[in-house]
Amino acid sequence: MTAAANDDWRRYRPAPADFDGRVIMVTGATSGIGRAVASALVQNGATVILHGRSEKALEALYQELKPLGPEPSVAQLDLERAQGPQYQQLTNEIESRYGRLDGLLHNAAILGDKSPIEHYDIGLWQRVLLVDLTAPFVLTRCLLPLLRSSTDASLVFTSSGVGVRGRAFWGAYAVAKAGLENLAQTLTDELENTPIRVNVVNPGGTRTKMRTRAYPAESPASLPTPESVAPPFLYLLGGASRGVRGRRFDVREPTPA
Ligand code: NDP
Repeated sequence: MTAAANDDWRRYRPAPADFDGRVIMVTGATSGIGRAVASALVQNGATVILHGRSEKALEALYQELKPLGPEPSVAQLDLERAQGPQYQQLTNEIESRYGRLDGLLHNAAILGDKSPIEHYDIGLWQRVLLVDLTAPFVLTRCLLPLLRSSTDASLVFTSSGVGVRGRAFWGAYAVAKAGLENLAQTLTDELENTPIRVNVVNPGGTRTKMRTRAYPAESPASLPTPESVAPPFLYLLGGASRGVRGRRFDVREPTPA
């Protein structure tokens, strides 16, 4: 493969058939990167299950996206509060409506605090681990039977640079992302002989409310928009990446030496 071909996933433009008939769930679809990916998926012909915690925000998003492509559906679940029965209800609803799942993007997350471990709030630590790591595990566990019913299922985890190498003050968020990377590796091995492929994306610094919380002094205008980082997610969720598994994608171009 040439260097240019290797890079194509960064600039991926879907072909008309790439999302035909595909049912894809996006967690945290109501803002930031999740919203941009969900919107692009609908506009490229996917049937999207929009997940979020706010019913009002989900309803507004549904109304906005409905005219743009196949009718989406909404899945309201607060990942900080949901218990087994709510996860089961969501699974049952997807099963009875679609009978399978072709893609699942784990995108929802919270930052927590930028604080040294010595002073990290213990309750906040638990909340971050719950939303950023435990919830993706529970959701994956519940939805695996539906992913198994697809002939080409794609499971995508959204990580971060601190998921590979911890960094001072990133606390629970970094630990959760490292756990997510490990979960993706474990699933890659366990699902080796199935049509379910697992990959990880690190979007890099992106103009969202999470980034502003992490770097309040930074000018948002200096950062890529969520729309501009969506193509690699689309590449992995659609038919174009069939056979690509166990990889980690850093969306930011490496800076020339
Ligand atoms: P945002 O804060 O803009 O979006 C996060 C999403 O997660 C929102 O839709 C939010 O819902 C949802 N969410 C948060 N808590 C819960 C909960 N308890 N239950 C359900 N949904 C919840 O962040 P980004 O778009 O920046 O982040 C998207 C992903 O990209 C994350 O996994 C993040 O870690 C990762 N990332 C982001 C980077 C960046 O620079 N932006 C860099 C590296 C990685 P609501 O809309 O209601 O707030």
